[in-house]
Amino acid sequence: MDFSGRFSGLRILKEGLTGNKGWGPHWKDATPKEAYDVVIIGGGGHGLSTAYYLAKNHGIRNVAVLEKGYLGGGNVGRNTTIVRANYMMPGNTEFYSHSLKLWEGLEQDLNYNAMLSQRGQISLFHSDGQRDGAIRQGNAMINQGDDAELLSVGDLKKLVPFLDYKQARYPIYGAILQRRAGTARHDAVAWGFARGASERGVDLIQNCEVTGIDIEGGRVTGVQTTRGAIKAGKVAIIVAGRSSKVAAMAGMRLPIESHVLQAFVSEGLKPCIDHVISFGMGHFYISQSDKGGLVFGGDLDFYASYAARGNLPTVEHVMEAGMTLMPAIGKARVLRSWGGIMDMSPDGSPIIDKTHIDGLFIDCGWCYGGFKAVPGSGHVMAHLMATGEHHAAATKFRLDRFRTGQNLMDEEGTGSQHNLH
Ligand SMILES: Cc1cc2nc3c(=O)[nH]c(=O)nc-3n(C[C@H](O)[C@H](O)[C@H](O)COP(=O)(O)OP(=O)(O)OC[C@H]3O[C@@H](n4cnc5c(N)ncnc54)[C@H](O)[C@@H]3O)c2cc1C
Repeated sequence: MDFSGRFSGLRILKEGLTGNKGWGPHWKDATPKEAYDVVIIGGGGHGLSTAYYLAKNHGIRNVAVLEKGYLGGGNVGRNTTIVRANYMMPGNTEFYSHSLKLWEGLEQDLNYNAMLSQRGQISLFHSDGQRDGAIRQGNAMINQGDDAELLSVGDLKKLVPFLDYKQARYPIYGAILQRRAGTARHDAVAWGFARGASERGVDLIQNCEVTGIDIEGGRVTGVQTTRGAIKAGKVAIIVAGRSSKVAAMAGMRLPIESHVLQAFVSEGLKPCIDHVISFGMGHFYISQSDKGGLVFGGDLDFYASYAARGNLPTVEHVMEAGMTLMPAIGKARVLRSWGGIMDMSPDGSPIIDKTHIDGLFIDCGWCYGGFKAVPGSGHVMAHLMATGEHHAAATKFRLDRFRTGQNLMDEEGTGSQHNLH
């Protein structure tokens, strides 16, 4: 059977003319072997991209990705798809810059339409102090080699005329625009990496929950799963919202809390929002999908939980923020909402590191922002697992920073804040 289903103009034309009957499955639904060189726990965006880059960049193909549900059923298929590189602090700036560059070549690399749309992200500010902060952030982005533009209210009115510019409480003073930021189709990203990994010999094993991690003499030797024991030379924990639970199987207590984050989609509307817009005075952001739905979200539900759905006070909070910024949104009907479990680290930055157990690696702490990190994280994690050295774009995501207090980073340079950014 043809598992590659590679796309080309000619193939699409041929399939179109012959009823699209020639496409095979995009990846092989593998059954577990007894042993692998590398086992990756978690078939989300980061697990799949790590497997892909291990095979592609390092020639390590005897790899299994173990997923307790179905590939892409976690946060990678639940997020609001924003891709950007507008971070402030050293450590983060170079990593997200690296990731955005990978995004820009990803569809060619994977031969998969991930619907990357660099429609630009507009981050509004609403006071003189916020303007100073935004300019500082924009300068950090430019120094990193990324793009940032300062927009006046006049510029904004031309780009996004439907915002409430007369608002007395949170007047709009301007914005930072990153034109290379935008959105991508989340499922397609998971599927593209899955296909790329499977093509290169990686076993993608669904409905296979890891229930234990085997350690002998300080070295990882394999995992226990609902489909039997699997031996492994190296194991990576890449399970996002379940990081604390899976790390506990290796006796580790992580500085991670799991919180619900909700997202919302309205009924389909004619094209009206061309960019991603972030409200600087309330936690609210919005874009419009290709199908016309307004895709928006806000803050966490503010208590630790493993539930994949949120609660009404946060729904109300998000809707109010949306109405404050853009009163016309009140006319749109919300079609659906859902939640995902976020792996929140105390400083808002991820962990990509070895652990104190030989051969056991961890990649977690992605907070709100792990979708944009999918290519970057897999790329640098594969480098770490293959070479034992941290990639130059990810030298600071060390687990021990929470013990030593060194190099704490955050998104905006406002400091570590335990009500979770
Ligand atoms: C509502 C919402 C909006 C978001 N918006 C954005 C955004 O706009 N931009 C952005 O950059 N980020 C966003 N994010 C964050 C982003 O989605 C996550 O940070 C990222 O997807 C997490 O990495 P992942 O894809 O590997 O996680 P997941 O897809 O959750 O993958 C982890 C996988 O591990 C599996 N697993 C767990 N335990 C086990 C086990 N014991 N054995 C086997 N498998 C296991 C899970 O089933 C899951 O499939 C958002 C998240 C949510 C919920």
